Amino acid sequence: MASITLKDLVKSYGDTEVLHHVDGQIIDGELIVIVGPSGCGKSTLLRMVAGLESVTGGEISIGDRVVNDLEPADRDIAMVFQNYALYPHMSVRENMAYGLKIRKISKAEINRRVEEAADILEIKQYLDRKPRQLSGGQRQRVAMGRAIVRDPQVFLFDEPLSNLDAKLRVQMRLEIRKLQQRLGVTSIYVTHDQVEAMTLGDRLMVLNGGYVEQFGTPIELYDRPATTFVAGFIGSPSMNFLPAKTTGTQAILRNQVALDLAGPLQGPVTIGVRPEHLREDPAGSLAVVVQLFEQLGANTLLHGHLDGTETEIVVSLPGHVTVEAGTVMRFAVPAEALHVFDAESGKRVEI
Ligand code: ADP
Repeated sequence: MASITLKDLVKSYGDTEVLHHVDGQIIDGELIVIVGPSGCGKSTLLRMVAGLESVTGGEISIGDRVVNDLEPADRDIAMVFQNYALYPHMSVRENMAYGLKIRKISKAEINRRVEEAADILEIKQYLDRKPRQLSGGQRQRVAMGRAIVRDPQVFLFDEPLSNLDAKLRVQMRLEIRKLQQRLGVTSIYVTHDQVEAMTLGDRLMVLNGGYVEQFGTPIELYDRPATTFVAGFIGSPSMNFLPAKTTGTQAILRNQVALDLAGPLQGPVTIGVRPEHLREDPAGSLAVVVQLFEQLGANTLLHGHLDGTETEIVVSLPGHVTVEAGTVMRFAVPAEALHVFDAESGKRVEI
């Protein structure tokens, strides 16, 4: 096991810089998730740690070794890919053993490790099958088995569940979490799926256009998003954003409704409020014209706009709610549920 340090990391392809001065420290035994929309640089960053992409600037250390110039095979990492990358002509056992065989590990030791990994992953009964005789979930387990037998210092996961159906993804993501906690191997996991990121990661590194927007625990990101980008990306449905100007300790919305802030502020801001934090209240300050509702079982989503404006609002209410289109409903927003961001930079404003 080992910590991983990313120091002022830069990646360019030709003249185009795609990762901009990324810093981060991953603690020994921790699972961190790199999350962000397509093209934000997640895979590039992971592949740089793996040694599959060169480093343009800065430093990557695993433990106390700078690994910038080490070959992938010398970094003591194991990678699990999205497409499993299993050899079709080899049995499960041979697939799991292959990486050890080429490292000239003894037959007895290889057998011991393969049996142990198969036991952990509950795939013992499939050891003599070929990959094509397995389901997607079983193949994914074999791919993980191949990483486990290597007994590496670091696991790297590159969107490993994206080929599975929704139900299996949920099951496998719990299994990965349990497995990683049991083995205690420092891990980096890449996904574009914020729910997967929130449930798996000890901490999340949110990337946007090659910049780190925030690096924190799921709850830190949810409770105190550093930017409007993180605020909109983490949480489902997304946070509502209401443009406002501030005078003293009040935010004045576009329809002139005033919301009380915890302290004084100056200038234009964006007020953020999560759909699940709006409370139905006939005396509430936010009037919403409801256009449609979605009943999801445990809760109902109301979609509409802030009365007198075109600002769209989503509200999540517990239980089953039915609303006729065009109804004006009022909601209260507790001051502690308000997030304030600078209107221009999108950065969180502390008050
Ligand atoms: P993500 O994994 O978040 O979808 P990537 O790391 O694959 O994003 O890509 C980040 C950026 O780098 C993208 O703009 C992509 O077009 C660019 N990029 C990735 N690989 C190459 C390459 N080999 N040559 C040029 N540009 C690349």
